[in-house]
Amino acid sequence: MWKPLLACAAIALASIPLHAQAPAAGRAEAGWQALQAGDGDRAAAVFREALTRDPRDATLHFGAGVAAHLLGLETDAVQSLRRAVQLEPRLIAASALLGEIERHEGNIDAAIRTYEQALARAPGNPSLRARLDEWRHESAVHDTLEQWSDHRFSVVFDGQINRTLGKRGFDVLDAAYWRIGRAIGAYPSDRIAVTLYSERQFRDITHAPAWSGGIFDGRIRIPVKGAAQDLPQFDRVLTHELTHAMVSSLANRGVPGWLHEGLASYFEPRDAALAGRRLKALGVVIPLANLQGGFGGLGAAEAAVAYEESLVAADVLVQRLGTHTAILLEYMGKGQTFEESLSLLGVARGEFESALMRRFR
Ligand SMILES: [Zn+2]
Repeated sequence: MWKPLLACAAIALASIPLHAQAPAAGRAEAGWQALQAGDGDRAAAVFREALTRDPRDATLHFGAGVAAHLLGLETDAVQSLRRAVQLEPRLIAASALLGEIERHEGNIDAAIRTYEQALARAPGNPSLRARLDEWRHESAVHDTLEQWSDHRFSVVFDGQINRTLGKRGFDVLDAAYWRIGRAIGAYPSDRIAVTLYSERQFRDITHAPAWSGGIFDGRIRIPVKGAAQDLPQFDRVLTHELTHAMVSSLANRGVPGWLHEGLASYFEPRDAALAGRRLKALGVVIPLANLQGGFGGLGAAEAAVAYEESLVAADVLVQRLGTHTAILLEYMGKGQTFEESLSLLGVARGEFESALMRRFR
């Protein structure tokens, strides 16, 4: 399962106290509206302009930070959010998003410091407190645990170490990385971190739905069972989450949920022809437009259909694009829509949809 960090921007936005938006309200109004509408480019332009007149307004820096985050420009986002917190330490929404991004970028020590400082200003805030506790725990675990790692992957255990599984995970990642890279036409260079948890730790830390076998939220997180572990299933889940990590490296925004999940299922690998037949028998097709976000909010039955359909769609796409699949992802990461990206690769309008629909007829 892939959990877009973008959800955090929506939460941060919803939690801005109205009075905090007041000072430069007139000029920045359009920026907040653009953020609500998910238009990062427009919001960034509005806040940039407003900041030339009020360079010391914390809420404008906050807005600029959220906009940069929406655009996947995390270095800029961190810079703007740090400035916002510096100017107005009581702007808890800015600290909250800043900490999440720092942690997502792998800088857990900075994330912990940000939340400690925010809590000093808002000691009664339960969600900051809970998050901070989780991160301190994570950080302590990573400091003490044995790792299987090289320049590309690192595998650690949160809980009981299982050497066989650690080594196996490391080997599975390596083989799957090259297989996926050959198929999509790119070998992204970002380091990929994996944590293996006990089932209980996994649910506590990720809040993932009960049906999910793993999660990617910047780090791959997978529950394991020690000696009772189903090894082929472990390999599949790990490969699934690895695909999310590679797709996110190529495009850290703009990739619809169905494509993320479809590619991840495709490379597990799962049988797309079988999935197509099952969906045909069921007679259910969810419009891809309804599968744009992560699948975390879906119930088990709905998720099953969403995954099978996404798998068939990814199969159609990879068969059509082959090693140009990575280029499609990169176009989307730079802000082109799926349709625009397809047409840049010479796929005629409607060609993908008709090929997909033929699978269900
Ligand atoms: Zn997934």
